[in-house]
Amino acid sequence: MKVDEPVMGRVAKFIKQSGHSMTGPRYDVLKLLSAPAAHFTADEIYAAVGKYRVDRSTLYRVLDLLCELRVVRKVPAGNRRPYYELSEIFSEDHAHLICTSCKRLINLPEAARLKRLISRMEKPIGRKYNFKVLGNRLEYQGLCPDCARPPALKG
Ligand SMILES: [Zn+2]
Ligand SMILES: [Zn+2]
Repeated sequence: MKVDEPVMGRVAKFIKQSGHSMTGPRYDVLKLLSAPAAHFTADEIYAAVGKYRVDRSTLYRVLDLLCELRVVRKVPAGNRRPYYELSEIFSEDHAHLICTSCKRLINLPEAARLKRLISRMEKPIGRKYNFKVLGNRLEYQGLCPDCARPPALKG
């Protein structure tokens, strides 16, 4: 997979400035997540970078730390496992389409302008409600083409 060097450079600098080092497992996870429009569950990340490099508990610790540092964010997917993606600090603004049936996640870059507009409200909202806004999410729930098909036509 091609590494997005500018993004990885910014992420590496950010991690260093937060007082952490870029370990092998952190690099592997970020390399995967820095691909354009990347969204992966922990299992998918493990399948891609785990196995031969890190064990599961290390992977979860890496993901927890990256979320805590706000380099990565978790995208909840209902009762399914959440997705991980680069946080809004490092990725283009976008929204998600989430299929409520199979929990498939589709990127919606078309919503970038709307997302930026919503982000602009964070400061005034923070001031008015004395609330430290850490992020926002724009998500459409619905049915993907596969799940919207009548059962007889499936398969
Ligand atoms: Zn679906
Ligand atoms: Zn996303």
